[in-house]
This record gives sequence, structure tokens and C-alpha cells, in this order.
Amino acid sequence: MDKMFIQEMQQKLEEERQSLTKELNTISSPDVGDHVPGERSANFPNYGDDALNEDSESPAEVSDYSVNVSVTGTLESQLNAVNAALKRIEDNAYGMCTNCGKEIASERLRANPSAETCMDCAKAHA
Ligand SMILES: [Zn+2]
Repeated sequence: MDKMFIQEMQQKLEEERQSLTKELNTISSPDVGDHVPGERSANFPNYGDDALNEDSESPAEVSDYSVNVSVTGTLESQLNAVNAALKRIEDNAYGMCTNCGKEIASERLRANPSAETCMDCAKAHA
């Protein structure tokens, strides 16, 4: 793998990690009640629309919460993929298919810097 290319991908991945983390922070919080480090739980919105009963869960809050839960899950798995790719850069294993060990085409990595498998394996998997 070309060193310049890897540097370029590393930069992309770091930018992606920042924006994913920022997005996650707006809809979820680190899951302190859980013993799995790094796990996050979706925020439960409180719009304070019921002054008489602050603990009420309005339908809007409940439905936004379920959106937060599903978006948190998606963002988390994207973030995990980005972190795994950055780890592979550290380990000098970046750009190698985790399935067959062949080099992943640079066009594929450019389109998706956290890709773990080559085109052939991705196709075989799908
Ligand atoms: Zn492969």
C-alpha cells in the first residue's frame, strides 16, 4: 500500500470519527449504568410540554427516543468500523482484505475508507 494513500485515508477516517462522535453526543450519552466500556445509550428527550407533570412521557418524546436508539446503534457501528480501520493502519494491516488477505482496491477504500474486505469478498458475502 502506498504510504501517501494510507495517510490520506487516515485523515479521512479521523475526520469521520470526529463527526460521528459529535453526532453521537447530540443524541446519546455514555452508558454509565452499563459495565461495557464505550457503550452508549440514547438520550430520552424531555420537551417539558407538561408543566403539571414533569415526569410525563409525551408521545413525541417516546417516538424521538426510539429514533435516537436506532440512530445511536447505526452511528456506533460506523464508529466501530472507523476505529477498527484506524487500528489496522497502526498495525500496518490497512487495505488488506480481512477475509482473503488480498489488497483492497484503492477506489473502494476512497469510497469507503473503513472497508474491511475486497470487492470479491464483499460480493461473495452479499
Ligand atoms: Zn477478499
